[in-house]
Amino acid sequence: MWDDRERRGLNAVLESGKWWYGEKVREFEEAFAAFQKGKYCVTTSSGTTALETCLLALNIGAGDEVIVPAYTFMATASAVMRVGARPVFADVNPDNYCVAPDSVAAVITPRTKAIMPVHFAGMMADMDRLGRIARKHKLLIVEDACHAWGTIWKGAGGTGVVGAGTIGDCGCFSFQASKNITAGEGGAILTNDEKLANICRSYANCGRNANTPWYQHFLMGSNLRLTEFHAAILLAQLSRMPKHTAKREENAKLLNKWLREIPGLYPVPDDKRVKPRSYHLYCIRFEPKEFGCSRSLLIKAAQAEGLALVPGYPMPLYKQPMFVDRPGYKNICLPGTEKLCDESALWFRHFLLLGTESDMRDIAKIFCKIHAHASELTA
Ligand SMILES: *Cc1c(COP(=O)(O)O)cnc(C)c1O
Repeated sequence: MWDDRERRGLNAVLESGKWWYGEKVREFEEAFAAFQKGKYCVTTSSGTTALETCLLALNIGAGDEVIVPAYTFMATASAVMRVGARPVFADVNPDNYCVAPDSVAAVITPRTKAIMPVHFAGMMADMDRLGRIARKHKLLIVEDACHAWGTIWKGAGGTGVVGAGTIGDCGCFSFQASKNITAGEGGAILTNDEKLANICRSYANCGRNANTPWYQHFLMGSNLRLTEFHAAILLAQLSRMPKHTAKREENAKLLNKWLREIPGLYPVPDDKRVKPRSYHLYCIRFEPKEFGCSRSLLIKAAQAEGLALVPGYPMPLYKQPMFVDRPGYKNICLPGTEKLCDESALWFRHFLLLGTESDMRDIAKIFCKIHAHASELTA
């Protein structure tokens, strides 16, 4: 979604002649850090390069293991491989699609250096328990917060106010086209550690340091800089976020209530510790036997009714072509992840939650209709 705010911002950058290395990127970094309640923000070219940069800056590389959920976008795991370390997969809880702390604890070895929880769809992984595990085993935490702009963690007592991506050593965000806030591409790293922020910034800017001559390079960096055009769009997008997040939460609440009445549909439950919650996706755990038909029949029918419902990731990451032939990945079987991939994951995207109450009724009615006729459906 865009309006005159994006247009005015883009025009101002265009006409200023300053398309690169100007104030807009810094302005967005400050605004995003404040929005997410973190201290330092370093923008990057994507969420993927943000993850890679954090791992480099934390000195994670060859010989190290990093624990990642098996149910996530490939970038969470590929970032670990790109820095030469080994992704070790943990299972997710199919109720909320987030990494299961017990499964994380079960795969820790002497080589484990970090945990990378994903705040899937804007719901948060259990940062209280993961924090305790990390402290006990002296592990770093890199949050993949690529779905969690504006999500706040209130913690055990429900009274804290910390932003997703600011709890671990660093957190990563994406502004790619499918995300709730976008400039087509783009990413950001948040951290409360000034030294780490400077190292990240150096890696993202050809290995330069802040106050040293331009052609002196200290680290094996890359060029991950955003342009002023990106920042102009992102500033406009960010200004719309609080209102949009509130609307998505309001609509999700209605859908949760209506869909829970239908057998076999289990929308991701509320967690008192997560408020607000960004809802990048509206996720459901689907139980075909209770509902009365297979997931593929349900999806075909929902799409015929005009709802862009999808089955999510087709396989656990460890079954991706990139992993199957590498040593150590063949015999993994994580039941929560396999269940989501095989039959239970169902989601649709964030923008549908910006509709009206009557749109939400239409969505609920589609599920009711399909449930009522489930036994008549054929492939
Ligand atoms: C989108 C996404 C990324 C990567 O972001 P890009 O900006 O597309 O590189 C990483 N992790 C998760 C969970 C994502 O959904």
